[in-house]
Amino acid sequence: MSPAQATLPGGEARLLRGFAAKPIVAERALNATIWDAAGRAYTDLGGASHGVALVGHNHPRVVTAIQAQADRLLHVAAGIQSPERAAFLDALHARLPSQLARTFLANSGAEAMECALKLAVAATGRGRFVACRDSFHGRTAAALSVTHRAAFREPFQPMLPKTEFVAFNDEEALKSAVPRDTAAVVVEPVQGEGGVRAATASFLRAARDVATDVGAILVFDEVQSGLGRTGTFLAATPSGVVPDAVALAKGLAGGLPIGACSMTEELAARLPPGGHGSTYGGAPLACAAGSAVLGILDDERLLWRAHAIGERLLSGIRSLAHPLVRDVRGSGAMVGIELRVKPQPAITALQAQGFLVLGGGTTGLRLLPPLTVEDATLDKFLEVLPRCLG
Ligand SMILES: *Cc1c(COP(=O)(O)O)cnc(C)c1O
Repeated sequence: MSPAQATLPGGEARLLRGFAAKPIVAERALNATIWDAAGRAYTDLGGASHGVALVGHNHPRVVTAIQAQADRLLHVAAGIQSPERAAFLDALHARLPSQLARTFLANSGAEAMECALKLAVAATGRGRFVACRDSFHGRTAAALSVTHRAAFREPFQPMLPKTEFVAFNDEEALKSAVPRDTAAVVVEPVQGEGGVRAATASFLRAARDVATDVGAILVFDEVQSGLGRTGTFLAATPSGVVPDAVALAKGLAGGLPIGACSMTEELAARLPPGGHGSTYGGAPLACAAGSAVLGILDDERLLWRAHAIGERLLSGIRSLAHPLVRDVRGSGAMVGIELRVKPQPAITALQAQGFLVLGGGTTGLRLLPPLTVEDATLDKFLEVLPRCLG
């Protein structure tokens, strides 16, 4: 490793991360490639952007939209109307189920979840949540209280007091775990952080039914699985199940901070006047970028591409028949490689070969490639993968 790739002196050491930084100093990026200060190229299969680079890094159309908007107007708060916000919301709602007719705009996935959970409490007058084991919903107080992993949650107990965690895809457990004082049932249609596990259609239907039965709000967290990553605009679309609220974020503004909580009119109507807000949420700059992203998804046929990426990776990894690979799972361009060992050595070895991937679950690798990634790049990854697994 060249000295240019070591941790930068000074300021970077002041960043409170809670984990070690990779020895990579990013300088510029285009599509799936990031170049470091020494000119070395890395492919971002999720490890650099956590899935934010959905339409690739620095997509020219996103950059142009941001530049044009930056020249005119960076920021107005939600109390002032904005043509860019109007256009973005029109584009977003054209792609969402018609029942989800209203959207709160925020700046992150956790904030989108925070909105859904607060509204569920306001709408029901109840304070209990039901979520899934191995869930991840973000690091703010309410989002964290429905996040399962102990390492994320326990140092900060007590959070919101009452969350029941049920086994993912266990319909019977779910049905018996939702008491009448439940405000919200919260599900990731495809668990990401938990290791790329897709909910079955019948589990999503059971969640819909039990929430409706007890008068609870059904919240889908599609911060990672949404926006076409799995091959449909929402990962829940093929199940036919429509929640009361869905959280979106990650790639929605092509790299600018954004979060969206889209919900039914009925739920939106339960927001008390002045009951929620965000200084930056819905600002014109992020909205202009968001409209560009939604246009790119259509014009470059990226939902179709998500299927093709998933098939190429799944069949490529399966055909390796590697002894350390226990299972390979995928939902479009969201792929989990379950190992028989801890994933960190493989993540480090892949990084040395120029591929940045994520962990998922306790023994998994997780791939969230840009939907614009080229087949040749995926093939190169498949070529180096076996020797990086050890
Ligand atoms: C990333 C993620 C979040 C949190 O989003 P932030 O933008 O980091 O707050 C919430 N839910 C899921 C499913 C995520 O993948």
